[in-house]
Amino acid sequence: MRLVLIAPPGAGKGTQAARIAAHFGVLHIATGNLLRSHVQRGTPLGRAVRASMDAGALVPDRIVRDIVSEAMAGAKAAGVGYVLDGYPRTRAQARAVHRTAARIGMTAHAALHLRVDDEEAVRRMLARAADEHRPDDTEPVIRRRLKLYHEVTRPVVDGYAARGILVSVDGTGTADQVTARVLERLEEPAWPAICIPALLSRPATLEPRATPVLMTGCST
Ligand code: AMP
Repeated sequence: MRLVLIAPPGAGKGTQAARIAAHFGVLHIATGNLLRSHVQRGTPLGRAVRASMDAGALVPDRIVRDIVSEAMAGAKAAGVGYVLDGYPRTRAQARAVHRTAARIGMTAHAALHLRVDDEEAVRRMLARAADEHRPDDTEPVIRRRLKLYHEVTRPVVDGYAARGILVSVDGTGTADQVTARVLERLEEPAWPAICIPALLSRPATLEPRATPVLMTGCST
């Protein structure tokens, strides 16, 4: 199973991505976590992205693209799928990841969109700030990240809808309720019970599917 997860900041995408990845036995690729790890270790890459991250801005495409390409190649080498969490965040990144994934036969089967309204997202992020002390979880930075989400990331969702692989799920409620909702949709019995890799990885330029064709019976 290969999944792209898109959600506004504060929607709990990290938690859901980790659970989905564990459920399907695939690699969880979280760009925010990978970047934060560089910042914490004080690597040259970490020093280069720190200011943008603290300000709630996007870090340069090239940096994130290289991180994702390397992780995706790792998933391919390990013979597993992935849950891509935090990438793509722009239409340009969506095109880039599709090209990279297509080159190695690892294009996404589905894009999961978690829907949470802004006030709920802000409330959750402020609660998280108290626990995790993330420098980008202050209210002005949170508002800026939400604005950025609506302006540049939300259109990516429409792109996946046009490709016919969008699965949109209500992200409100407890983490367990959201996980149950998500897994139910990802294991939708109405979808084919047999995984047909050639069908799943056909290029987006072909006619979009009416219903996502997906993963029941697919291990990757
Ligand atoms: P997240 O943990 O996904 O909320 O990401 C935290 C921060 O990492 C973001 O606010 C950005 O500064 C940076 N980041 C993560 N993913 C990306 C991406 N796809 N493109 C650019 N910046 C990113």
